[in-house]
Amino acid sequence: MANPLYDTLFARHAGRDAAFLHLVDGRTLSHDAFLRMAARLAHALRGAGLGPGDRLAAQVPKSAEALVVYAACVQAGIVFLPLNTAYTPDEVSYFVTDSGAGLLLCDPAQADSLRPVAKAAGAVLMTLDAEGGGSLPDAARGLPESFETTPRGGDDLAALLYTSGTTGRSKGAMLTQENLLSNARVLAEYWRFTARDVLLHALPIFHTHGLFVATNTVLMAGGAMILQPRFDIDAVIAALPRATAMMGVPTFYTRLLDDPRLTRDLVAHMRLFTSGSAPLLAETHAAFEARTGHRILERYGMTETNMTTSNPYEGARRAGTVGFPLPGVELRITDPESGAEVAQGAVGMLEVRGPNVFRGYWNMPEKTAEEMRGDGFFITGDLGRVDARGYVTIVGRIKDVVISGGYNIYPREVEMVLDDQPGVLESAVVGVPHPDMGEVPVAILVPEAGATPDTQAIATATERALARFKRPRRIILVDALPRNTMGKVQKNALRAEYAGIFT
Ligand code: ATP
Ligand code: MG
Repeated sequence: MANPLYDTLFARHAGRDAAFLHLVDGRTLSHDAFLRMAARLAHALRGAGLGPGDRLAAQVPKSAEALVVYAACVQAGIVFLPLNTAYTPDEVSYFVTDSGAGLLLCDPAQADSLRPVAKAAGAVLMTLDAEGGGSLPDAARGLPESFETTPRGGDDLAALLYTSGTTGRSKGAMLTQENLLSNARVLAEYWRFTARDVLLHALPIFHTHGLFVATNTVLMAGGAMILQPRFDIDAVIAALPRATAMMGVPTFYTRLLDDPRLTRDLVAHMRLFTSGSAPLLAETHAAFEARTGHRILERYGMTETNMTTSNPYEGARRAGTVGFPLPGVELRITDPESGAEVAQGAVGMLEVRGPNVFRGYWNMPEKTAEEMRGDGFFITGDLGRVDARGYVTIVGRIKDVVISGGYNIYPREVEMVLDDQPGVLESAVVGVPHPDMGEVPVAILVPEAGATPDTQAIATATERALARFKRPRRIILVDALPRNTMGKVQKNALRAEYAGIFT
């Protein structure tokens, strides 16, 4: 094949009148119309000087046209680099410079503040707004609706996707055509996507979840998406009756559960709800099932590896677990000190290997070498265990481990005890500097609506449940945990906020 990713995800749909995108303004874009727009944009991008292997950085609002840019890049062999719309010009400057992008595509509203950024990095600046207008679509107007697809191989880069920056500076993950394609194939089949599916898409498209997990899987199956600019509870509830599946982050489900319009009837026709990007509380899973009869299918993955594990489509979806390694993905759990595989059931580092695993970090050969084993396994940085039936549970991140007086504390273990206490909705445990112990665990608790948890009683409960060194030295009540757009708790922010309480 000349360009496996384009040929498989996109070109197969040429000439198909079936809907691909249902948009908020009532418009529907067919698969064929989408491809014709992509061809025009591919010509415009060539005209702007981008050749195969060049990077296009895009910080644009979510729209059909933004997805067309992705398709155009794949067709023209350009490496697609989407950026979080929340990034400031200074942050964008880092990504554009680090990636050596040849073109920065932005919202016209940001053009003035990003023009100097593009100029300093030697990139062309073009614009694309939420309605599909801007200098890039202007340049594409009237250009041919077919484009000779640029030949690419499975090992060629398709995307440079920066990690979320939860544990430190974002790293650019080099994703090949084969990385994306192999995962799309596996997910479409594992989750039984077909051309009859209509996915309710309310996720951002600058992250692996909304861009690759959602979009590529639907494209692989030839289905359609209801594309909403963001998660808006009214819009989501209004669209659910027309959807067959929804992919969400855990906060989508807690917000739905907070709304009385979420009923069994509203979603009786739905085929699938999935969750990922952050841990889904077992309580959310149980409450969703009690209300709707649907068992949310939780899966796990990351920017560098695409999706690696999933609960089964048929068979038991177990709350609090992320299911089994996906077909073609090998997973092992290793000891952080020795790197040797741990005994069955023990906690250790999750390592994965397979066609889904990225090629390395852009411009960071040392970092790549540190995290990629000689035998091809990638050290994910997540901690977990595999139970006797093969289900994987994530227990936290290696960077979040608290080392107190020389002992390792896994925050998740403490959080699980805290979450079970009366009046507690959720919790986060972080290590803060301590003069004697190096670090000690501190608990930050969010009460259930209207509840005032008894922190003294909670401290007593932790004495029963946990060894002394694991018990939080301080319990702090807050209204909400700091989260990013993907629903990830920002433990760095909590560590910074409480850094001074013992020193
Ligand atoms: P950075 O690597 O820059 O610190 P990040 O790891 O948050 O940021 P992403 O690649 O967006 O960036 O997120 C991947 C991480 O998200 C995984 O390593 C894991 O910690 C977490 N994650 C994803 N899905 C789940 C899940 N179902 N349950 C628990 N954690 C999950
Ligand atoms: Mg990461």
